[in-house]
Amino acid sequence: MDKVDAVVVGAGAVGLAIASEIAGKDRDIFILERESAIGQGASSRNSEVIHAGIYYATGTLKAKLCVEANPMLYKICVENKVPHKKLGKIIVGNGEDEVKQLEGLMRQGEANGVHDLELIDSDKIHRLEPRVRGDAAVLSPSTGIMDAHGLMDHYLRKARRQSGSDPLVLETEVTGITKSKDGYVVDTVSGGEPFSLEARVVVNAAGLFCDRVAQMVGIDIDEAHYRLHWCKGDYFSLGGKPPATMLVYPPPLRDTLGLGIHSVPDLTGRLKFGPNAYYVDKLDYHVESPVEPFWSDIVTYLPEIRKEDLHPDMAGIRAKLQGPGEKARDFVIAHEERRGYPGFIDLIGIESPGLTSSPAIAKMVAGMIEDYLD
Ligand SMILES: Cc1cc2nc3c(=O)[nH]c(=O)nc-3n(C[C@H](O)[C@H](O)[C@H](O)COP(=O)(O)OP(=O)(O)OC[C@H]3O[C@@H](n4cnc5c(N)ncnc54)[C@H](O)[C@@H]3O)c2cc1C
Repeated sequence: MDKVDAVVVGAGAVGLAIASEIAGKDRDIFILERESAIGQGASSRNSEVIHAGIYYATGTLKAKLCVEANPMLYKICVENKVPHKKLGKIIVGNGEDEVKQLEGLMRQGEANGVHDLELIDSDKIHRLEPRVRGDAAVLSPSTGIMDAHGLMDHYLRKARRQSGSDPLVLETEVTGITKSKDGYVVDTVSGGEPFSLEARVVVNAAGLFCDRVAQMVGIDIDEAHYRLHWCKGDYFSLGGKPPATMLVYPPPLRDTLGLGIHSVPDLTGRLKFGPNAYYVDKLDYHVESPVEPFWSDIVTYLPEIRKEDLHPDMAGIRAKLQGPGEKARDFVIAHEERRGYPGFIDLIGIESPGLTSSPAIAKMVAGMIEDYLD
């Protein structure tokens, strides 16, 4: 049986970022991916926003890793020619209650270490984005957009360069993981054939299936509170010329599962709106939502948008730990040594801002692996 130092399960942005950080000439690693290409899960079905780290409760991994990763990501993009744009974002409030929420967001962002926020009035909103209607807004200059595939290609190139070989194995689904004397036996079905290998370290970066992969090794996912709740988000695209160039968001408290229906410019200049949030139990990426609730949210801050110009576009599914009616949950990034699984690293519930946080997550996980293997 082949023996390697580490196996990363899942070639999404998180698994690839980790692989790029831990690959080295004197370390054998494999990235096992069940699809026929990288980034076919949440990493290619999202808003591609480089978040600043404003919303998340202070002290959570979401807040810490996002704030740490924001400048890292711009540096990666510049140095490796990953397409991106630092467009800036405004979170727009209308009416007394929403303006109060914006003041709370300013405090939250500053407590998280986002120090470039500005509370702006309707005149400044008008100067920045003449077609946006708002009494006040939080301006976040360090929010931007990126090409998620470009980022993943960079992580893969780096992993290949550092390992001196190709660690990526596609069309290989991990089907079982058993503790062995020196690590774990990882069973797979590769190109239709069963194949097993042994690894000292296993990194579970399986996105929507990470709870099932944790279960494979023997973790009781209910006792550990690792059971995922899939939460879908649909997008509608706008025909015609975009009415705003910055990212425009409503205050998040209108929506307890996401950040609210916001404008999502892409790098080609097209504009989408989304994502909404509703729980699902199957992987179906058709847009299922009616346009009406989207449109009525959008016109609160972009009153000129016409319903007939909105067209069903794409959908993504979030790997949420927060179930219906429950409070928001943080990322779980855990070396499972304390549960009796030394060398097994779980990444559970890596929803937004997981793409932004990917370089900081990778650094954190690489640190866990160094400590363990040394
Ligand atoms: C609608 C939506 C909008 C979002 N917007 C943003 C945003 O603007 N900014 C931001 O920072 N984040 C955003 N996110 C979050 C971000 O997309 C995710 O946090 C990130 O992509 C997670 O990456 P991942 O590698 O963990 O998961 P994935 O990209 O899902 O990758 C997991 C991989 O594991 C593979 N896999 C699963 N099981 C197995 C198995 N048994 N064997 C082998 N391979 C397996 C899958 O095929 C998949 O390729 C958004 C998410 C959604 C859904």
